Amino acid sequence: MSLRTLWRCGFAVLLCCLLSGLISAEQAPVPGKKPLTEMPSVITVPPAAQPSDHFDPEAATDAYLAEIPAEARARSDAYFEGGYWLILWDFLYGVVIALLLLNLRWSARMRDAAGRVTRFKPVHTMVYWAEYLVLTTILLFPLEVYEGYFREHKYGLATQTFGPWLKDEFKGLLIALVLGAILLTVLFGVVRRLERTWWIWGAVVTILFFSFVVLITPVYLVPIFNKVSKLNDPKVTQPILSLARANGIAVKDVYEVDASRQTTRMSANVSGFGHTMRITLNDNMLRRGSPEEIQAAMGHEMGHYVLNHVYERIMFFSILIVAGFALLRWALDWSLARWGEKWQIRGINDLAVVPLVILLASIFFFVLTPVLNTYIRVQEYEADMYGLNASRQPDGFAQAAIHLGEYRKMSPGRLEEWVFYDHPSGHGRIYAAMRWKAENLSRP
Ligand SMILES: [Zn+2]
Repeated sequence: MSLRTLWRCGFAVLLCCLLSGLISAEQAPVPGKKPLTEMPSVITVPPAAQPSDHFDPEAATDAYLAEIPAEARARSDAYFEGGYWLILWDFLYGVVIALLLLNLRWSARMRDAAGRVTRFKPVHTMVYWAEYLVLTTILLFPLEVYEGYFREHKYGLATQTFGPWLKDEFKGLLIALVLGAILLTVLFGVVRRLERTWWIWGAVVTILFFSFVVLITPVYLVPIFNKVSKLNDPKVTQPILSLARANGIAVKDVYEVDASRQTTRMSANVSGFGHTMRITLNDNMLRRGSPEEIQAAMGHEMGHYVLNHVYERIMFFSILIVAGFALLRWALDWSLARWGEKWQIRGINDLAVVPLVILLASIFFFVLTPVLNTYIRVQEYEADMYGLNASRQPDGFAQAAIHLGEYRKMSPGRLEEWVFYDHPSGHGRIYAAMRWKAENLSRP
């Protein structure tokens, strides 16, 4: 998830993306064209990872890693490391755009233009948001095309041609227009009515809004970009539903999403909460994953389910939102006292303040990058361990880690993993699986 989205959608929508693993975009894969980054489709269990009385988890891990062709590994390392820089460039590019909107007083002019449309204040907010969104989308477009289209194609991860890609971008823009307008209208309503306590109620509104978006994501937002269907091949569903029953999960269905319309990435996720909570496998994984690998991945997703990770994440982000609003209140007062006049912003209840709010929010989340990644990575590790115990498929788990290595660097340094990884590294995951295997081999 990049901060680019923050600029386009506003920070609440970004949080929802972080939470729900949503996002993206259409088009069938090109048949017969092997993606450049592809790992071997069938990953065999290397001799060093076969059960034996001298089974060594380190040697087994190295043997799995040795199955990755050097070229594929170099490419996914380069792709993932480039992503580190993009976090920085996205942030700086966004800062420059916000400062332009403020210093050239474009934001003040957009507010004036919105005021000329009607006297009804909530409509001003919607008109301003539309102006803001269209202008920043145009300004951010070069970076968006590079990151979302050319770079993905360069690394063999994208399956869309430019037209369908652009269509998906447009859909994303419309969603940001509607959701952002709703949030902003309510937030400005709060700020105008509750001058002293707005930041507390603003945080409450944002938390409710963002929980609502997580709730509707699997049912209403994902289908805008992709076809979601109930998986009905008993060969695939029976072992998964059996695993679910054995773990006390009351699901009757597993879902499939045609992610191959946009990407070659293999993945699965748990999304939504309450009645909309569901486990989804993408078609790339169904096509290329071995049965053991699919079960290992499902065990992991069930871990998220049983360990209540969705609710924990909502709690965690709620705390961050409250802290963020408290800081926002202070930072807005501070910056408006200094530059408010120059930017022609009349106060925190003035629509022209929006680029400043988004600037401050993006600084907040940029600084918190390692904290957010570490929080999510720790949950992912918990789900990994749960999944290994539930599925009892350490080799399937290692295979999945290698396939996910098509878009993640397998063996990062410690600090690198701490700062940038929102999942344990491929190396760490394979080692955890082999350690599990060793412990279980030694049992009577
Ligand atoms: Zn996970």
